[in-house]
Amino acid sequence: MARTDTIVLGAGIVGVSVALHLARRGGSVALVDRGPVGEETSYGNSGVIEGSTILPPAFPSSLSTLLRVALKRASDANYHLSFLPRVAPWLWAFRAASRADRIAETARLNRPLFAGALAEHEALMEEAGATKYLRKTGWMKLYRSEAAFAALKAEFELADEFGLPFEALDAQGARALEPSLNPVFKRAVYWPKAASLSDPLAVTRAYAARFHALGGVTLTGDARSLHRSGGGWRVETNEGGVDAPEVVVALGPWAPDVLAPLGLSLPMAVKRGYHRHFRGKGNAALSRPVVDVDYGYLITPMEQGIRLTTGAEFAARDALPTPVQFDRLMPRARALFPLGERADDKTWVGSRPCFADSRPVIGRAPGLDGIWLAIGHAHWGLTLGPVTGRLLAQMMAGEATFCDPAPYRAERFR
Ligand SMILES: Cc1cc2nc3c(=O)[nH]c(=O)nc-3n(C[C@H](O)[C@H](O)[C@H](O)COP(=O)(O)OP(=O)(O)OC[C@H]3O[C@@H](n4cnc5c(N)ncnc54)[C@H](O)[C@@H]3O)c2cc1C
Repeated sequence: MARTDTIVLGAGIVGVSVALHLARRGGSVALVDRGPVGEETSYGNSGVIEGSTILPPAFPSSLSTLLRVALKRASDANYHLSFLPRVAPWLWAFRAASRADRIAETARLNRPLFAGALAEHEALMEEAGATKYLRKTGWMKLYRSEAAFAALKAEFELADEFGLPFEALDAQGARALEPSLNPVFKRAVYWPKAASLSDPLAVTRAYAARFHALGGVTLTGDARSLHRSGGGWRVETNEGGVDAPEVVVALGPWAPDVLAPLGLSLPMAVKRGYHRHFRGKGNAALSRPVVDVDYGYLITPMEQGIRLTTGAEFAARDALPTPVQFDRLMPRARALFPLGERADDKTWVGSRPCFADSRPVIGRAPGLDGIWLAIGHAHWGLTLGPVTGRLLAQMMAGEATFCDPAPYRAERFR
């Protein structure tokens, strides 16, 4: 039986970053996952380090958008009818949290995390030898109508309040940055302070290698075996049971599988998303992630090709994939950018772990002594992994934290 100071459950970008931050402070840490490091949600995302994210995604405010989604004509969203009764309370809370005043409040509450996100990645990349995967070329959002662009007023005001630079461009200005885009859009906003990764999996693996170099161990095991033992906690692994006084749950969309049996039920839902890779036709190339806002998809250059990721699908986490959004958006995507043949033969599906108020949970698990949570990073887990690692390590050590962690407490749901 092995003993360690801390067990971290889940080796996605969040768990690996937490484990690395704890190991940097000299503690003994066992990182436990049922599979290889970083191969779930932290692999398949769009690779954006969204330090300049301001407003979280919102419930549609216009009836016409809602109707398009309901009739399954929208490319930005999909749903499984049989899942709606289960997710209805979450959707109701999400709708309430999408009111203009609430959403601006969320932006302010999340700001300390986003503000430090890129610098925290850069610090870990330096020591992990992973800076070659980082592109500091910003990202660009495209708007197909003047009306969609005009709706950005509140976001621009908050950008000014937060001191975030942006450039409002016309199609010609956008094409000066990305010459392969066809001018099927009217307006664009360039956010120069965002960054992106050419290979999110390689970065998570590099952080894990750094964690090992500092003495951390990674073990294969099922987190659902977590149970109380001798005043602390034990998890079963292929190497035998591991005991620790403290455990961090960083299981992304699988966190409820471990927390619910321990009596902690948190209102997490998943927004599923898909990706496919394409080659660019001829010399067509991209230098940064580009979002086609009206159709709700993103194209980004990755090691594997141009990765096209979809918006939200409301369906059970483990339901069979239904990548119908591609049928709706591919004609739009091909009109925007000269996408060539597929560069993979499989469609990837993953689940964004989301709370309705678009804030993660970082801190103690209420009622479960010794258990800490780093979950619910929704659309931004890749961005927020390292900054979450710093915050949680400070909290666990009882140190002053770099920001007030109160907005991320799990108790807000009680
Ligand atoms: C299509 C899409 C695009 C996205 N784009 C971006 C983006 O551009 N920028 C951004 O910041 N974020 C993005 N995200 C969100 C981001 O990918 C996630 O928030 C983030 O990866 C969550 O990381 P995690 O470590 O919490 O979870 P995960 O990476 O899912 O890690 C959880 C780990 O837990 C393990 N696990 C599960 N069950 C068990 C068990 N029983 N026992 C042991 N281990 C278990 C899994 O194997 C996995 O390794 C995107 C997400 C999607 C789906």
